[in-house]
Amino acid sequence: MRVLVSGGAGYIGSHTVIRLVEAGHDVVVVDDFSNAKPTVVGRLEALTGRPIPVHAIDLTDTDKTEHLFAHEQIDAVIHFAGFKAVGESVAKPLAYYQNNLDSTFSLLRAMDRHDVRTLVFSSSATVYGAEPELPMTEDLPTSATNPYGWTKVMIEQILSDVAASDDRWRIAALRYFNPVGAHASGDIGEDPSGIPNNLMPFVAQVAVGRREQLSVFGDDYDTVDGTGVRDYIHVDDLAAGHVAALDTVGSRAEPMSVWNLGTGQGVSVLQVIKAFERASGRPIPYEIAPRRAGDIAASYADPARANADLGWRATKTIDDMCADTWRWQSKNPNGYPDA
Ligand code: UDP
Repeated sequence: MRVLVSGGAGYIGSHTVIRLVEAGHDVVVVDDFSNAKPTVVGRLEALTGRPIPVHAIDLTDTDKTEHLFAHEQIDAVIHFAGFKAVGESVAKPLAYYQNNLDSTFSLLRAMDRHDVRTLVFSSSATVYGAEPELPMTEDLPTSATNPYGWTKVMIEQILSDVAASDDRWRIAALRYFNPVGAHASGDIGEDPSGIPNNLMPFVAQVAVGRREQLSVFGDDYDTVDGTGVRDYIHVDDLAAGHVAALDTVGSRAEPMSVWNLGTGQGVSVLQVIKAFERASGRPIPYEIAPRRAGDIAASYADPARANADLGWRATKTIDDMCADTWRWQSKNPNGYPDA
């Protein structure tokens, strides 16, 4: 298939581009580079040995999106593009709702007009809300605790309504747990701008000496050691999950499918720190800090549905995730170059 990857220069998008090419698909990237560096593309081309066509446009621009579909022959879309910082979404709710919803509307309309009705959407385990049952199954009710999360809940609802309206659509929402790690080459990885919000990139920047110490947000949760527990999944396993979803969704009886992508294993913050120390051979200084507003104690997937329907499962351990993150971080201490 010729697959349009929105947000294809971003963290998960870029790893998925590599997996798509390896699986024999053609890829077209659309990215506005608001949160990604153009230098990613050269690295993707070097790693895949293929030219990667890139459209540097903002999908909320309906004319440009229409133009893209008029000029590229697209068979399916994987839609990663969107604003994704939880804290920023609380401060700028309108920007988040507007960007994430408008880009999706523009994309869906262009797809419909051009008879492209196979879509894989980047959703998140955040749609399970503030007090989820564990492990999280796809049948749990959805809600959110911040505007970013609500955009995921709302877009899933929109997709399910669109899928129900016309049997030619085949749509999958993939609910990611906590993506970490990097490509095995160490040339593609997560490059957050400013101070990282997420644990793994913060730990990696402490290890490489860019930051002095980590704050552990709370040690009095009802978990194995009191620190927050998450289901960390290697970004390359996640990328493989997208390829499996894309290859499966078209032959599904139902127009809309929802799959968790996680390992099913919970790992605490202190366990991540220890694993990273093993992988890097460096100490990770940390202090215990107050809980972070909006955090839940524990989150982990029941990945059984994806395992069964997609013939996919996560294969990499927390040690693999830390080793690959460390390779990327030590090869690229300041992330991607500007040019
Ligand atoms: N965390 C932490 N210090 C940090 C960032 C995160 O202790 O600087 C904790 C956080 O409280 C949570 C876990 O690490 O228990 C994962 O947080 P992250 O932001 O990576 O993912 P999310 O909370 O969105 O699942």
